[in-house]
Amino acid sequence: MNQFQYVRVTTPKAAVAAVTKDNSTVFLAGGTNLIDLMKREVTVPEKLVDITKIPLNTIEKTDKGLRIGALAKNTAVAEHELVRKHFPLLSMAINAGASPQLRNMATVGGNMMQRTRCSYFYDTAMPCNKREAATGCGAIGGYNRMHAIFGANDQCIAVHPSDMCIAMAALDAAVTVAGPKGERKILFADFHRLPGDTPWKDNTLQPGELILSVELPMNNFATNSHYLKVRDRASYAFALVSVGAALSMNGSTIQDVRLAMGGVAHKPWRLMETEQFLRGKSATEATFRQAAELAMKQAKGYGENDFKLTLAPNTIVEALKSAAKIA
Ligand code: SF4
Repeated sequence: MNQFQYVRVTTPKAAVAAVTKDNSTVFLAGGTNLIDLMKREVTVPEKLVDITKIPLNTIEKTDKGLRIGALAKNTAVAEHELVRKHFPLLSMAINAGASPQLRNMATVGGNMMQRTRCSYFYDTAMPCNKREAATGCGAIGGYNRMHAIFGANDQCIAVHPSDMCIAMAALDAAVTVAGPKGERKILFADFHRLPGDTPWKDNTLQPGELILSVELPMNNFATNSHYLKVRDRASYAFALVSVGAALSMNGSTIQDVRLAMGGVAHKPWRLMETEQFLRGKSATEATFRQAAELAMKQAKGYGENDFKLTLAPNTIVEALKSAAKIA
């Protein structure tokens, strides 16, 4: 591992001041992904700014919903009484990710900032546009069974690895960040980005910006929510495909719905058009099958991940059935 400087800060202002001077400075929170990246020299920071002593771990009710501090641990969020009661989709998604030990260390902000698990990204002997611009993409034409079927291009076909973020995107969360120009809010659905011509950028944060909190608006989805994650083994595995489904029901009629997918794109993949199709429809398997077909319109396989073109619509149908509580 390369040598680096270490500093600890106790306020957001000090954190922002510590990084804006130097682009090779990164924030350290739980470190559950960053330390791996540093050990493998995928990321070689010159300075780590330890933000763990900043008081940003509160989970609190607000006028409009719930505010979760960026340094709240994943376990604390998943087990929090208000999250379990009002946002069970978020609890389910967090508990589907990683292992208990990792969830005890990992923070909300760190979960959002984790990098893709594309194996070429972690292998510094292989080409990877995300790790090093204009070097190529080893996964295209290579081992790509974990890779994207939506929104990818010839620059990068990696997927975003988080489960928590799929639920956050589905639940219309908003992110508050602090930076050199002050605070601003970013819709969660706009926080992560598609690869475009800059695949090394995972999100829309500006240099020096620090995540302060995530806010979830209150909703009517608590009774009919389900997070379905399909993976190679029962725990401690990233999603091949996951679906976060949340319904607001009036009898058997879908009044409102939120749907987002994981393991399929460079960002949490929200299915807005499919949601619109489902509003006002009866919750039946036939309706969900039509919805899944609509959701898959833009899907494209890259060889080894072609199985996702079948797995993804089936996962959408099963997640919706579980959320609607139909057999
Ligand atoms: Fe790198 Fe993206 Fe290609 Fe993976 S898919 S090798 S992360 S450019």
